Amino acid sequence: MRSLYIKFAVTTITIMIVSGLLAFVFSNSYYQYTLKPQNDEKNTKIALEIASYVNANEDIHLHRYLENVSTIGYQLLLVDASGEETFFGAPFRDTSLPSDTKLTVLGGDVYHGMKQFPQETFVTGFFANELSNTIGVPLETNGQKYALFLRPDIKLLFNEMHILFGWLLALTLIISIVLVLIGAKYLVNPISKLTKATKELSEGNFSLQLDIARKDEIGELATSFTHMARQLAKLDEMKTEFISNITHDIQSPLANLKGYANLLEKEETTAAEKKTYLSIIHSEIERLSRLTKQLLLLASLDRNEGLIEKKRFNVSEQLKEVIHRHQWIINERGMMIRYSLPDVYMSGDPSLLTNVWENLLMNAIKYNQDHGTIDISIQETETTVKVQIQDTGIGLKGHEVDRIFERFYRVDTSRTSAIEGTGLGLSIVSSIVKLHDGAIDIESFIDEGTTIVIQLPKL
Ligand code: ADP
Repeated sequence: MRSLYIKFAVTTITIMIVSGLLAFVFSNSYYQYTLKPQNDEKNTKIALEIASYVNANEDIHLHRYLENVSTIGYQLLLVDASGEETFFGAPFRDTSLPSDTKLTVLGGDVYHGMKQFPQETFVTGFFANELSNTIGVPLETNGQKYALFLRPDIKLLFNEMHILFGWLLALTLIISIVLVLIGAKYLVNPISKLTKATKELSEGNFSLQLDIARKDEIGELATSFTHMARQLAKLDEMKTEFISNITHDIQSPLANLKGYANLLEKEETTAAEKKTYLSIIHSEIERLSRLTKQLLLLASLDRNEGLIEKKRFNVSEQLKEVIHRHQWIINERGMMIRYSLPDVYMSGDPSLLTNVWENLLMNAIKYNQDHGTIDISIQETETTVKVQIQDTGIGLKGHEVDRIFERFYRVDTSRTSAIEGTGLGLSIVSSIVKLHDGAIDIESFIDEGTTIVIQLPKL
């Protein structure tokens, strides 16, 4: 029994057979304890009525009368005092009956053969065409004593019904088996499709299509599966893009380094040129180092390496330190920085959160106008800390705002092309804030500036 289809079909058919057998056992007990005595009683009443009718009408011809009774659906045996037996109606299959029984009925007793018929015969006892399966009543007419044994002629009464019930049972069985086989296919088919799709997925085919349009649990599973395949496809695409971006971002400073190193080696290079080339080499090395540091941080954030070592610390203090570290560049660009940072304590990973503030402040400086302004403020509620960093810089368009947290995304305009960057800063910010169960809000207008609000839970 390897396939689910066979398992399902065999289980259902077994259930049908077992329930059929149980139903037979229950209906048999019902027959033995309720119907059989009722049947006996009903036929005893009929036999006694026949006897009393014969008794009351001495002028009727007994044999002819009993012949008539047999034609309306009874099998009869008449035994007279001398032991002579006359059968009426369809013959009994088995005519054995102890002579004692006949004598006791002749003597005036009623014989309840139906009620006493052995239980082992189950419900089929009802159909047993045997003389012992009759009702025997004493009968007296014209001073003569008889014993009359009677049972309904089931064949005559129920022949058509028999066939009908037989067909009904056979058809029910056949139809239900066919339906079980079809139903099982209907149930199992989508699972086979899903299995096939899983294999395809494991072989790297993320663009598979599942034609399972159902609204039940299997339909839900298929929908989730397709969703998962799409997500995997997206991840795969992102991975490829990520690798090509990294390669490009590492390749271009390396090419620059090589080029300027070659120029340095040339004899005709003047001292002033050498100085310029060396400073370019330094800045390229700086760029590479920054990029690798950011990549390492992103990779460890992705792995979620138990990084988040929370402890209680003063966020305002931390923000002030970050500002002080960048004060020289703010001064250099003639910017003004305003901040109001009263002491606020929270629980979080200080070294990760420093990264957040550094990236945001650097962006507020890099993408600001010369002589622009930066405003930093902090607010706390009972459960959260909100840090707002606002600049008067170049701003962003709506569709750019939607993408700035993507890895390697950089707005590419004439105004930003000269600005150094890797496109990784904000994705690092977003990962760290997510690790702290926080949220980021951003509002930006072209040429007016950008406001970023980071909301973090205090605990
Ligand atoms: P980058 O290293 O390029 O600064 P980020 O991930 O920090 O990378 O930012 C992604 C892009 O979002 C930037 O290239 C820039 O175009 C845009 N951006 C980020 N911060 C600001 C800001 N304060 N004002 C305007 N544009 C911004």
